[in-house]
Amino acid sequence: MVVRRDVHFQGACSMNDVHDPGLESTEWWHALESFVVLGISIAGTLYSVENIENLIGSIISLLKNRDIDKRIDLPTDALKRILKDKESLSLCPLCKSRLDSNVANLPKRERNSTWQPQWRTTKRAEGEDKSIQIIHLKPLIESTVIHTAKNVRYGHRWCNVSMTDHSIDETLDFMEHVVRVHGRCKK
Ligand SMILES: [Zn+2]
Repeated sequence: MVVRRDVHFQGACSMNDVHDPGLESTEWWHALESFVVLGISIAGTLYSVENIENLIGSIISLLKNRDIDKRIDLPTDALKRILKDKESLSLCPLCKSRLDSNVANLPKRERNSTWQPQWRTTKRAEGEDKSIQIIHLKPLIESTVIHTAKNVRYGHRWCNVSMTDHSIDETLDFMEHVVRVHGRCKK
């Protein structure tokens, strides 16, 4: 594989239209490790790859033996920590349901199809609540590279949209307030 090491990767989150793509520029090794995390999430859920351990072993070996720039040690400690907790990669980081399950394990809610011209008969799957998008655990901030394996996960579209450009903690504070003012607290 030949990758120019002076190139900042951009647009790795093209599925996610919530953020400014300019903020997603990152170093090549962060982009590579982000794709590892995202790829394992997809393989373990939507593609039902059963032996994730084998897959992780092969990926680690590829990362160790690549010849892009030997000054960078891969996998980074951050990626090693993430891969030890591989179960969490199959879960949406906000609602904690599996990526191939409905949002928050709620029953599927029927929505009217959005208007489509006659030559298109099906609703775009990307618009469904449970479709998956890239979520940043901490929102992207200009001049700070946080488009990294540590910060990038797949999550449901509904969950991603509800976070807008806030962190998970800020989103949970918001949700806690909403639940309380609607008298829906169970305790
Ligand atoms: Zn979710």
